[in-house]
Amino acid sequence: MNTKLNIVPFVSVDRMMKLVLHIGVERFLTELAGYIEEDFSRWDLFDKTPRVASHSVDGVIELMPTSDGKLYGFKYVNGHPENTRSGRQTVTAFGVLADVGSGYPMLLTEMTILTALRTAATSAVAAKYLAPKNANCMAIIGNGAQSEFQAIAFKALLGVNKLRLYDIDPAATAKCRANLAGQGFEIVDCRSAQEAVEGAHIITTVTADKKYATILTDNMVGSGVHLNAVGGDCPGKTELHRDILLRSDIFVEFTPQTRIEGEIQQLDGDHPVVELCEVMRGTASGRTDPRQITLFDSVGFAIEDFSALRYVRDQLAATGLYEELDLLADPDEPRDLFGMLLRAAKANAA
Ligand code: NAD
Repeated sequence: MNTKLNIVPFVSVDRMMKLVLHIGVERFLTELAGYIEEDFSRWDLFDKTPRVASHSVDGVIELMPTSDGKLYGFKYVNGHPENTRSGRQTVTAFGVLADVGSGYPMLLTEMTILTALRTAATSAVAAKYLAPKNANCMAIIGNGAQSEFQAIAFKALLGVNKLRLYDIDPAATAKCRANLAGQGFEIVDCRSAQEAVEGAHIITTVTADKKYATILTDNMVGSGVHLNAVGGDCPGKTELHRDILLRSDIFVEFTPQTRIEGEIQQLDGDHPVVELCEVMRGTASGRTDPRQITLFDSVGFAIEDFSALRYVRDQLAATGLYEELDLLADPDEPRDLFGMLLRAAKANAA
């Protein structure tokens, strides 16, 4: 694609939107889910570490690196629940994919939209293994930036076509409903979380609040339900009452990170959990009983971002939806970095 050594393909927000629309949201999510499953099934190849988090009163800034030995990826991401009050996103992100052999970046991209897509694709992949058979009705509690992506991923991968929406802010529910109009969903607006979960086979919680919240209490979760808990993803930031966890079979991305950040921070450090990669590889079971409560304790792991970066990189040559960023110094003679500066000074003076 880029032959000049100084040039790195850059996918701006504008190009990312064009790319997603060109491919189609459902197809994008389905293909991305395939990349995520592929990377989860070669889990052992990856460098894995809980993300590096810098916490503050208002939120968190995190770096999420990983490598499969050939490619290296990282994402910068924040989580600031109060941001929407000042017109900002709760979550924004950008990321880099690099060649391990040379250390040279191969892609710099926006990842705010891409994070919503990869989070939704991962949730739907997990639900493929964990949700009850023929589940087609999902409650979505928290109707903010992530919510439509979750809905469409569950439609694309599981055939969910009934949604029960609830948000403490009715304007968010109205926005979500309007955005999903004409996409093949039957949508019910609900006045409480309790009402939203009635009759739902899958319950997605995707709220934002920097506290131990109780979006679901124990009595709201009946047997056989799959819980997709997305919003509890930081120390001190959870969504489910602890009693629900004690009745659920719990599935996680990368255990050491989820113990710090997930719903399971409320449990003892040795409480049994199953990593999704084991279920995908067939070394552990997913759902085994229709009455079982399954919980995907989603926090978001670096390998999902790596898959997303890989997927976007693979779309660039055919679509041309990137800009060329002059990111890397490239002197005529590699050791003559200073000489390059002098030549530039001369050229500027001329
Ligand atoms: P957002 O701020 O756009 O939306 C959050 C919504 O939750 C808002 O509409 C808000 O009114 C609603 N809400 C807050 N408290 C509520 C409550 N008690 N009951 C019902 N609704 C409530 O945020 P977003 O970008 O949609 O992100 C949602 C959450 O998902 C955040 O906590 C974020 O950190 C998390 N997240 C997790 C992952 C992951 O991989 N697990 C990835 C991205 C975002």
